[in-house]
Amino acid sequence: MTPVAMGIPTVRGDSVSMAGRPDSVGLIDKFGRVARDFRVSITEKCSLRCTYCMPEEGLPAISPQDLLSADEIVRVVGIGVDLVGIREVRFTGGEPLMRKDLEKIISGCAQRVPGIPLAMTTNAVGLEHRAAQLAAAGLTRVNVSLDSVDRAHFAELTRRDRLPSVLAGIRAAAKVGLAPLKVNAVLMRETLAGAPELLQWCLDAGVELRFIEQMPLDADHTWARANMVTADELLAELGTQFELAEIGRDDPSAPAEEWSVDGGPATVGIIASVTRSFCADCDRTRMTAEGTIRSCLFSDREVDLRAALRSGASDQELADLWRGAMWNKWAGHGIASADFVPPERSMGAIGG
Ligand code: SAM
Ligand code: SF4
Repeated sequence: MTPVAMGIPTVRGDSVSMAGRPDSVGLIDKFGRVARDFRVSITEKCSLRCTYCMPEEGLPAISPQDLLSADEIVRVVGIGVDLVGIREVRFTGGEPLMRKDLEKIISGCAQRVPGIPLAMTTNAVGLEHRAAQLAAAGLTRVNVSLDSVDRAHFAELTRRDRLPSVLAGIRAAAKVGLAPLKVNAVLMRETLAGAPELLQWCLDAGVELRFIEQMPLDADHTWARANMVTADELLAELGTQFELAEIGRDDPSAPAEEWSVDGGPATVGIIASVTRSFCADCDRTRMTAEGTIRSCLFSDREVDLRAALRSGASDQELADLWRGAMWNKWAGHGIASADFVPPERSMGAIGG
């Protein structure tokens, strides 16, 4: 299989230009943004096959020697916090719970960077059996991805009949204090009519719900601008059953715009990544499960930290590579432009 067919970028920008970069320790880019939020993908494997993300057969397996080990992940997280100004770490994938050594990764990071929030984005399948250990290891909070509370509909969207396990996972996470617990739902034409029911379920369960506009990051490349559900359509749908009032954003780098529900205090968030892009305030930096730094979800230019790390680079050298990767971050994803080309990797292969 060719690298492109495997969803691995052919452009791996290992040599990065630092021309014009001011002498700053942080992860600044040419547009004045500073990345402090580190998304770490730890696996390509997943227990679900969401249609807007994964191909039916799953992603091609990463060989064990190509995957960053727990110790390597902890080292990079340590460099991130000590040397380049990372202030929050989020583990993602694929599905982070697919890694048996997740507790080791979390506890290693918790000891290495005490006080830094360690979060996880998860589909929650099987979380009920691990929530207590993960909290004890030092996990601070979880975002659970859940698009429908209708069992048949969930099974259709994810190609797996696992809704009961997800709901049990959410309850277990809340019970062990992994808070604030947020639910993320990707907006699809098929899910739109069920959006009020999902919101009601989250209100009853006391968890925050955020809807995310579907982005062109599906492995099957079926996304089309004309078919995607927009934030405005969602607001109209929710408005048939709830009274919503716009609150806005507290923090400009927080992607979700908040709306109060039925006079509050409950809220619902909307992440309009496509129709109201927040690229100008983006503070993310990402690492793939193979240890490449990615400055943007949509840019296939990656800097190979793993190769440097395994050939004996010092922490300072790794920090410089990382700074170079982020200095060259582009202005925005340009989904609306006529010459937009989706990235080679899908969301599950990058880490959302
Ligand atoms: N498996 C975990 C999960 O689903 O939460 C973590 C990885 S998943 C790739 C991270 C997030 O990306 C999820 O919230 C998922 O809904 C979102 N996602 C996946 N594909 C997407 C797409 N095409 N557009 C927008 N969000 C997407
Ligand atoms: Fe798996 Fe998450 Fe992608 Fe769904 S969104 S297929 S749960 S990685």
